Amino acid sequence: MVSRVIPVDTFDLVIFGGTGDLARRKILPGLFRRYSAGQMPEAAQVIGAARSEMSVNEYRAMVREALMEFSDKAEQGEEVIAGFLQHIDYQQVDAQGDDGWEALREKLRDGIVRAFYFSVAPFLFGDIAERLKTRGLADADSRIVVEKPFGRDLQTARALNATLATYFEEGQIYRIDHYLGKETVQNLMAVRFGNILFEPLWNAQFIDHVQITVAETVGVGGRGSYYDKSGAMRDMVQNHLMQLLCLIAMEPPARFEPDAVRDEKLKVIRALEPVLANEVVRGQYEAANGEDGYLDHAGDPRSITESFIALKVRIANWRWQSTPFYLRTGKRLRARMSEIVVRFREPPHSIFGEEAGGRANEMTIRLQPDEGMDLRVTIKEPGPGGMRLVDVPLDMTFADALGPDAEEVPDAYERLIMDVIRGNQTLFMRGDEVEAAWAWTDPIIAGWEEGKTKPAKYDSGSSGPEAALELLHRDGRRWREIRA
Ligand code: NAD
Repeated sequence: MVSRVIPVDTFDLVIFGGTGDLARRKILPGLFRRYSAGQMPEAAQVIGAARSEMSVNEYRAMVREALMEFSDKAEQGEEVIAGFLQHIDYQQVDAQGDDGWEALREKLRDGIVRAFYFSVAPFLFGDIAERLKTRGLADADSRIVVEKPFGRDLQTARALNATLATYFEEGQIYRIDHYLGKETVQNLMAVRFGNILFEPLWNAQFIDHVQITVAETVGVGGRGSYYDKSGAMRDMVQNHLMQLLCLIAMEPPARFEPDAVRDEKLKVIRALEPVLANEVVRGQYEAANGEDGYLDHAGDPRSITESFIALKVRIANWRWQSTPFYLRTGKRLRARMSEIVVRFREPPHSIFGEEAGGRANEMTIRLQPDEGMDLRVTIKEPGPGGMRLVDVPLDMTFADALGPDAEEVPDAYERLIMDVIRGNQTLFMRGDEVEAAWAWTDPIIAGWEEGKTKPAKYDSGSSGPEAALELLHRDGRRWREIRA
């Protein structure tokens, strides 16, 4: 197969929090995959920076273990892993003190791309940004990558934006949302804007509604006390589901360029209508089907934090007036499944009669477990017996036909890290987008926090609270079943 890997410039990448969970599960395995694919330049350097005292060799041993555990490329063998580890260095630093900063600075090289990944708790973002700038580690070309959560409401997000803006230009700040790095999400944009077929139909006249579901089987487990201060709205809707909604709903940008795309997404967020109290369903899982309950792990045994949320979202603009977007996400649900369903309206008249069958077209964009995209179309059921209609999915992934094979498709994190090195911000959130999203979610959250509204209970391993089903039933619609 011809390699499609496009080389990137040589870089120094510092991972603050290089010993943490995210670095071990996603960032380092992602970089390893890029190395295996031949995309990592020979002179590239990845420096783990964290609080622990550790030699370079000890850190490399930790990275090796992480690759064994979290990388499907680990079977590539000792030689490849050893080659990757040659790119890895380590520096102990204290994000809030003086230790390690000078030594870290000395490891950085001039004249190449320099990126700093903040894979640490957000309260450290300001301390690190300040030290990078005042101690001469970052210059006008350096980039910083910032993890979620980006604030917990509008006020904290604004404060964080202001802090980062003290030391870095907006063009240097990469706010990561790994949902945007998924292959299928980009395919969605290619399909929408690269064809004449869909865009003319992509509006309220032809689309009945859109569903976005992100269902997880995991519970909050050990993260209970962190999650308890967050909840599904802050943890998932304000960022990931909102970003997906924007990509479906936005107007065609003039060019596929960072600010053109982000301007259009921002317009969508600003056009969201306030959500009515009876159009939000919050849930909290309880022990069932051999699984634990939310309150078994929450910091507060009377916690009213939601582990599930479903809501009906309306976009007040010409394109989407009268086409609702239903969003739903939750933990401890029946299956792990993330998908977007675009349901078109039924044909205005059936020449075959109602009994012939056939339903409305549906486009499904699956993000997990298997990324892919299909369009359900109605055709004649083959064979004799008259005109009977049947729905078949038209596969729009075409990975088999086009290659590269699934192995070679970069995971979201690795793709986004390479975008940072290339200096491409298209798939990263701009500060004003994040603030606009909080401005929309804040009043919804305030409503239930003030009223101390309790979430509805749902069984672990179920599809969520009954009321979430009702949210669509009363509009004469149904959720897609949550299944693996
Ligand atoms: P973690 O607790 O596993 O790791 C924290 C890291 O920060 C460690 O390497 C630690 O040494 C370092 N650190 C802590 N205090 C420090 C200090 N004073 N100076 C220098 N280093 C210090 O955390 P994590 O799960 O890896 O999460 C990191 C960030 O990524 C958080 O903002 C989190 O919200 C975000 N995030 C994590 C996940 C995930 O799956 N783990 C997913 C999305 C976002």
